[in-house]
Amino acid sequence: METILSIKNLNKNYGKLQAVKNVSLEIHKGNVYGILGPNGSGKSTTLGIVLNVVNKTSGDYSWFGGKLKTHDALKKVGAIIERPNFYPYMTAKENLELVCKIKGINYSKVQEKLEIVGLTDRKDSNFRTFSLGMKQRLAIASALLNDPEILILDEPTNGLDPQGIHQIRDIIRLIASQGTTILLASHLLDEVEKVCSHVLVLRKGEILYSGTVDGMSSTNGIIELKSNDNKSLINILQKYPNIDKIKEEDGKVIIISKTNIEPSELNKYLAQNAVYLTHLVKRNHSLEEQFLQLTGK
Ligand code: ADP
Ligand code: MG
Repeated sequence: METILSIKNLNKNYGKLQAVKNVSLEIHKGNVYGILGPNGSGKSTTLGIVLNVVNKTSGDYSWFGGKLKTHDALKKVGAIIERPNFYPYMTAKENLELVCKIKGINYSKVQEKLEIVGLTDRKDSNFRTFSLGMKQRLAIASALLNDPEILILDEPTNGLDPQGIHQIRDIIRLIASQGTTILLASHLLDEVEKVCSHVLVLRKGEILYSGTVDGMSSTNGIIELKSNDNKSLINILQKYPNIDKIKEEDGKVIIISKTNIEPSELNKYLAQNAVYLTHLVKRNHSLEEQFLQLTGK
């Protein structure tokens, strides 16, 4: 697997405040990574460091396996870390052509990228007439002009209305499906859940979870059971496959499993072993519950 960015034990202090604590992350080609955490958890600082606009205190990061100097590596990175800004009295097309001119990119890319972000029919409108969502989409088109290996977005849907949010998320998924690696920072769990394959959860600069989004919600089965004889119920459950934990709570027996347990199968098994249930409820631990548990709120 090709490594795009490798971050090792990164730290950042602003005076006495430690904004990033020992953060490590490997970004592989083709995935969509989210840095998820409440405001002030160190997301933007982390992105700023790897984009060379914030100085690290200690630790390391390297782009593309360390083959390139940061300056050259960043030419293959598209990033939007601030509110998009273009010339208000120039059209979308003119603004993008100007970026092409500055960066030595063929003008043919303008049309291609406008299409990806759905702005083709507004290409001749002045930037100042654009909604915030359209401005953000133009910024994405601009960041894509040089066909970067990775696109970095900091809170890409902040301040947008629901329709604007939906459009941006669709665009991110489209770009990812075309093979561009993506790293985005967000304080919105559902954003990360909807667009990312991998997630780094931060709180106060510290990693709480790092892995796949599916893995974060992998406590798949929580099933509540009751029978007239919970003791035998627990005994029989010991032999059932894939149960990670059995506990008794308020007269209910609760089983927790990382794999999906089919309630009907379980019920059948128990009946075959002469345990008859009076209660069976399958609870799903949502990603949100996991997140709230992780961040301790
Ligand atoms: P996030 O992007 O997750 O909201 P930031 O990386 O912006 O978090 O900030 C992390 C912490 O560092 C916060 O407590 C913030 O107040 C602090 N911080 C960020 N930038 C600076 C700065 N330039 N000077 C001092 N403190 C800063
Ligand atoms: Mg931020």
